[in-house]
Amino acid sequence: MTKNPANFINKDVLKGGEFIIKDATAASTFIPEELNEEQLMIKDMCLDFLQNELEPVREKIEKQEEGVAPALLQKMGELGLLGSHMPETYGGMELDTNTNTLICDVLGPAGSFSTTFAAHTGIGMLPILYFGTDAQKEKYLPGLISGEMAASYCLTEPGSGSDALSAKTRADLTPDGKHYILNGQKMWISNAGFADIFIVFAQVDGDKFTGFIVERDTEGFTLGAEEDKLGIKGSSTRQVFFENAKIPAENILGEIGKGHLIAFNVLNIGRFKLCVLSNGGAKESLSSGIRYANERVQFKQPISNFGAIKYKMAEQAIRTFAVDSAQYRVSNLMQDKVKALRAEGMSYAEAKLKAAEEYAIECAILKVAGSESLDYVVDETLQIHGGMGFSEEGTAARAYRDSRIARIYEGTNEICRLLTVDMLLKRAMKGRLDIVGPAWAVQKELASMPGFDRPEGKYGEEAKALKDFKKVALMVAGAAAKMQMDGEINLKEEQEILMNVADIFIDIFLAESTLLRIQKLAEMDKAIDQEIYDAILQVFFSDATSRIHKNATDALTSFAEGDLLKTMLMGLKRFTKYPPVNVKSARRKIAAILIEKNEYCF
Ligand SMILES: Cc1cc2nc3c(=O)[nH]c(=O)nc-3n(C[C@H](O)[C@H](O)[C@H](O)COP(=O)(O)OP(=O)(O)OC[C@H]3O[C@@H](n4cnc5c(N)ncnc54)[C@H](O)[C@@H]3O)c2cc1C
Repeated sequence: MTKNPANFINKDVLKGGEFIIKDATAASTFIPEELNEEQLMIKDMCLDFLQNELEPVREKIEKQEEGVAPALLQKMGELGLLGSHMPETYGGMELDTNTNTLICDVLGPAGSFSTTFAAHTGIGMLPILYFGTDAQKEKYLPGLISGEMAASYCLTEPGSGSDALSAKTRADLTPDGKHYILNGQKMWISNAGFADIFIVFAQVDGDKFTGFIVERDTEGFTLGAEEDKLGIKGSSTRQVFFENAKIPAENILGEIGKGHLIAFNVLNIGRFKLCVLSNGGAKESLSSGIRYANERVQFKQPISNFGAIKYKMAEQAIRTFAVDSAQYRVSNLMQDKVKALRAEGMSYAEAKLKAAEEYAIECAILKVAGSESLDYVVDETLQIHGGMGFSEEGTAARAYRDSRIARIYEGTNEICRLLTVDMLLKRAMKGRLDIVGPAWAVQKELASMPGFDRPEGKYGEEAKALKDFKKVALMVAGAAAKMQMDGEINLKEEQEILMNVADIFIDIFLAESTLLRIQKLAEMDKAIDQEIYDAILQVFFSDATSRIHKNATDALTSFAEGDLLKTMLMGLKRFTKYPPVNVKSARRKIAAILIEKNEYCF
């Protein structure tokens, strides 16, 4: 692999969370069809790794045969795939963000092993890159990049999962100041069975949440048995115990009492990667369903002839396409941010950390969207396989089981939804995002007569609908925030409303990303008819309109009443007026190309 220089700095980009109040342009939005030849060569190399290295040992991985996963990691290290996102100084490739996104996209179908890969390269390695001292980086990163060492991340405990900062594992400095003594227990630790390095969070003196690098051969460090899990059975998951484990003081990661910065910042990029890996898995699952539907004959014809099956395939493709559009958009936003920060003199590691923080809202949105779309896709693929889907002979059952974890780890989807709204409101309060101005403008519009101008130009309806979706979000979130300020509600106690608002944000971000991609595609040479992309867009917008209408109605009726409620419901009606679409024939168009290509082809 060679480095992929891309020095152009795109300044015409939105800041994190700004998608709610501003419109992005297709020109400034990256789409996966723009990946260059060098990036596509890396894609081929990853595909080759999947087919020739991973596939032959898939069953061994599933049985967790000793040495198989570490050997595969080492193979990836030889190919440069463990350090593609790491500085050259430590043996990494320092590739751009989009190439790293592509690598995760292609490795998505790796199933259990994608968790092994993500735990090692993401939550395992990144804390050292972002927060390690030079000495720690020099000591650990080269081995982790080459695959000679494996990493794991220990945050969760039996008593603290989502509430991670309430961890009980404690660390006490020895009287000579040379060591910390760790006591406690971690749970659900991926890669624990074979990892050499454990990023561990513990409370120094019982109350200062702090990160540590713990080596496997530390005295007082032991492991529990492998967990018997629903899915990703090939991924090692164990408990980790510390009984007077003696950790050199120089193995503190970052500052004492600042462990939360490590834990949460690493999760931003972890969530992004999880979305990309999930969607990569969704593409493969969808393709396997299409192939089966084309082969399986019932009532003297392939089942792919049936409208019920076409619906499933098209719907799977629409959701996968929308997530794909959103994830490459965010990937490039982070890449642009990294470039801009580096041009200001920031180090590679710091720039990457800051870029992920800037787009933390989008990363949380993607985590939810990617994991839930994957669940839909694998469920329908299994259904398309009928009884065979329920058999362990094919891949559908395994994919169905493996996908389920994505909604749970790296912050459950409930926590990610809450964070999406919380981060947005906090940024507004700190003046990082001007939500108040646009929210006032919506209030004023509600009090005025509606205009009757029809939108003009191709995609004019979608552009208008999108602007209106944003008005709905501002109307609902703005009114809820005002009631909170007036002391009439306490939003922290009204999670149902926050979930509704988060779902509106998610729909907006995906709808916009899909629109921008399809607008850009309209100006490019491509293998697929624009008519099919337009069908994807129309079905997505049609369904998003209904979902947004329902979420907004649920939220508004939960906190408003009387004239206020009446006015806002009238506004909602006005802002959710996407023209009716013949979704049946649109989905059939999409299904036809999937059937013809015999795979997911967008
Ligand atoms: C296979 C597997 C691998 C894992 N790998 C790792 C790893 O490598 N390292 C690591 O540190 N951890 C790992 N985890 C742990 C994982 O991150 C946690 O399971 C997850 O964060 C949820 O914590 P919990 O299981 O304690 O659930 P809980 O926090 O108890 O949550 C239970 C339910 O309550 C909901 N809930 C909790 N709090 C709130 C709230 N405030 N508001 C609304 N709803 C709430 C949750 O969304 C969830 O639905 C792994 C877990 C699994 C299953």
